[in-house]
Order: sequence, then structure tokens, then C-alpha cells
Amino acid sequence: MNHISRDDLERYAKGELEERQRDECETHLYSCDQCMSTYMSVLEVIGSSLPDIKEESLFTDQIMQKINEDKIDKVAKRPFYEQTFFHYMLAATLTIILMTSGVFQSLTGYIDEVQRTRLSEETPSITNKILETTFIRINNED
Ligand SMILES: [Zn+2]
Repeated sequence: MNHISRDDLERYAKGELEERQRDECETHLYSCDQCMSTYMSVLEVIGSSLPDIKEESLFTDQIMQKINEDKIDKVAKRPFYEQTFFHYMLAATLTIILMTSGVFQSLTGYIDEVQRTRLSEETPSITNKILETTFIRINNED
């Protein structure tokens, strides 16, 4: 099995790979611990562009902002959003032990609602109401 070069992992992290290369990269990362750990260190270097995960409310706010941006302009921003969000989730997984508060679970619930909204576009009024309620609840937990 050929490993992925650090350069390619960096380009992957920055979303600079072509779709086919990106797919190959993802497939390889899922099955190769060595490249995954290299990718983690690449992410640490690039990490300055990611939110400080210890600042939980900031972290949550920035994800909410990404989600809301995506809701507003799904067609144009979806690929960027999914790419970025994958990295957010990866970063979250790295420090999942630290995430002992309810923030993460609330966030997961919120994301579930967003995904459900995508699946049921015909009834936006009800799901939007649920989303608003969930969003207010999360904000009030600070
Ligand atoms: Zn590898």
C-alpha cells in the first residue's frame, strides 16, 4: 500500500485536492493508522485556522455559524461546508475526552435536526421551529 505524502495530506486538509484524489485520500485514511496520525499532525500545524476547542462556547458558535451559512446558501457552500465540517468533527474527536459537558451532545442533536431538515425540505416551517427552539436552548446553556 502506498502511503500519502505529507504534502498531499496538507493539500487534502486545505481542500486543494481534486475530487478523485480526495476520495483516494479519504479511503486511505480510513484504513491506515500511520497516515491518519500524520494527518493529525498536519491538522495541528494548520490548527491556527480552526477554533480553539477549549473555548467551548466559541467553538459551538463558530459551528453554528457554519451550519447557518450552509442553510442560507446550500448549493454554493455545501462542498466547502462539508470539507470544513469534517475537520471540525475530526478535531472534536481528538479531544472528545475533554468534552464532558452537554455542549457536544446538544450540538449533535442540533446537527441531527439540520440533517433532518435537509431530508424534509417540504415542511420547513415545523423543522425550522424545532431548529430555533434547539438553538435558543443551546445558547441559554452558557
Ligand atoms: Zn498510509
